Amino acid sequence: MEAGKPVLLTVDDDPGVSRAVARDLRKRYGRDFRIVRAESGREALEALREIKLRGDLVAVLLADYRMPGLSGLEFLEQAMDLFPNARRALLTAYADTDAAIEAINVIDLDHYLLKPWEPPAEKLYPVVDELIELWRAGGDRPAAATQVVGHRWSARSHEVRDFLARNSVSYRWLTADEPEGRALLEAAGLDETAVPLVVTPAGDTLVDPSVEELAARVGLPTTPATSFYDTVIVGGGPAGLGAAVYAASEGLRTVLVEREATGGQAGQSARIENYLGFPDGVSGAQLTDRARRQAARFGAEILTAAAVTGLEARGSSRVVRFADGGEVAAHTVVLATGVSYHTLDAPGVAELTGRGVFYGSATTEAPACADEDVYVVGGANSAGQAAVFLSRHARRVTLVVRADGLERSMSHYLVRQIRDTANIAVRTGTRVAAAVGGEHLERLRLCDTRTGRVEEVPAAFLFVFIGAAPCTEWLDGVVERDAKGFVVTGPDLLTGGRRPPGWPLERDPYYLEGSVPGVFAAGDARANSVKRVASAVGEGAMAIQLVHRYLEAQ
Ligand SMILES: Cc1cc2nc3c(=O)[nH]c(=O)nc-3n(C[C@H](O)[C@H](O)[C@H](O)COP(=O)(O)OP(=O)(O)OC[C@H]3O[C@@H](n4cnc5c(N)ncnc54)[C@H](O)[C@@H]3O)c2cc1C
Repeated sequence: MEAGKPVLLTVDDDPGVSRAVARDLRKRYGRDFRIVRAESGREALEALREIKLRGDLVAVLLADYRMPGLSGLEFLEQAMDLFPNARRALLTAYADTDAAIEAINVIDLDHYLLKPWEPPAEKLYPVVDELIELWRAGGDRPAAATQVVGHRWSARSHEVRDFLARNSVSYRWLTADEPEGRALLEAAGLDETAVPLVVTPAGDTLVDPSVEELAARVGLPTTPATSFYDTVIVGGGPAGLGAAVYAASEGLRTVLVEREATGGQAGQSARIENYLGFPDGVSGAQLTDRARRQAARFGAEILTAAAVTGLEARGSSRVVRFADGGEVAAHTVVLATGVSYHTLDAPGVAELTGRGVFYGSATTEAPACADEDVYVVGGANSAGQAAVFLSRHARRVTLVVRADGLERSMSHYLVRQIRDTANIAVRTGTRVAAAVGGEHLERLRLCDTRTGRVEEVPAAFLFVFIGAAPCTEWLDGVVERDAKGFVVTGPDLLTGGRRPPGWPLERDPYYLEGSVPGVFAAGDARANSVKRVASAVGEGAMAIQLVHRYLEAQ
């Protein structure tokens, strides 16, 4: 079906009349509009549902008044639920004009047209011209390619939106209790329990999809195109993206595997102020989206929603296994899996996660915080940035910190910004003792760590930024990790000048090389790394230099 143009739909149970109206409409409007014709009200509604799911618009509906089954009036009434902005006209015989006039009040009819409408230039086109003009004046806009219907407070709805946003898939968000959301559910033949509903650009409907299914259906690659590469990069944060840009631009066959969405922690940062070359700061999503496009332009393959669960040295190949059982081999591997947030251990928090309690997703949820009381837990830069960012949306933001001040854990510029922002309060010496709510977060219990006194406060949102651990459990027994799980590399692998056990080569490990030759680590996942965007990007670039050195010596 031709997509994109707005639709003029005509329905008449007399096939001859239906064809003739469509022919006349096509003659004059065919260049700018798609003409859709139907021979019954039901068939027309079916066509409208399909148009709705594809995200296209309907400008004008022309319906015959007397039709068996669904009458013209009944059809227009139901069509209004799907396309409230479409302009509506009835085709009537002379004898029916009184009924048509009455309908003007009942279904807010714009016009009625008397049959026959010959010559169209005099009787049909002036009316349709006016209807189109009215429709245009109404400012109807096409839907974004992908549409999501869900509940505001549903954890799964949040997950779906967050995944799409972080992968730069533009989408339109509709709640299931607003008319547009209901119309889309109805078009898909579903009710409001079938959420989150995702409608793809092709008009396919996915009910409560997994991220793997979602990625595949909105056109994000999830499996490698070939079975062997020069380098496999695991993790799509700044370190992985940095490595991908340099590897691909230097001619290496490169695949980057990301379990969620590219961008990593940096992609969740509302504003990065200290990255070189951005004196006014840059949103993490913007920075990492550019990096992803840059890597793709150089020819790096980028897989999303593909988690890596195993690594094996098979002869000179390094084999990476995926959660779905698939695998891919390469000469080298760059581990850039970063860290993930610690969870907040307090009663009620786990149950309300995604329903008012969020880990690091301040940007996606910010608009929903308008005029709400918002709490942010954590004393480091990430918490400070989130508080400043959220203060532009929320009525009041309270930063909850265990320590007795921010100065030791947060950059000076952020401490100053927080102090200068009127609607941010800081509660030091405080911990979250419990989260309370039904369908969504309603209150928090805050405990004063000095006195033990617990206070209950109203809270609609809680954003948690309380440190992180490396995502490296799957490397257990394969490469050496330190006590906290960070991958040990280069000189740190040497004990008393001795190389790590099992190291097979007559040279020391390169600076970012792990205890298995050809396996490198970059960014936050590496032991003793500096936890910054710039250093992660730098290590990604450096890892690729070492990959070249490794390949040359092979
Ligand atoms: C909210 C926030 C604000 C910050 N602000 C700043 C700032 O202003 N300035 C600054 O310099 N730094 C900032 N940081 C720190 C900075 O973002 C990190 O140091 C940087 O992102 C580390 O990059 P990375 O690529 O090593 O790891 P990450 O960014 O953690 O990326 C790792 C990626 O690997 C993926 N991954 C993990 N395991 C697997 C697996 N098994 N399979 C596939 N993929 C996997 C993850 O999903 C993730 O996308 C901030 C951090 C946060 C959380």
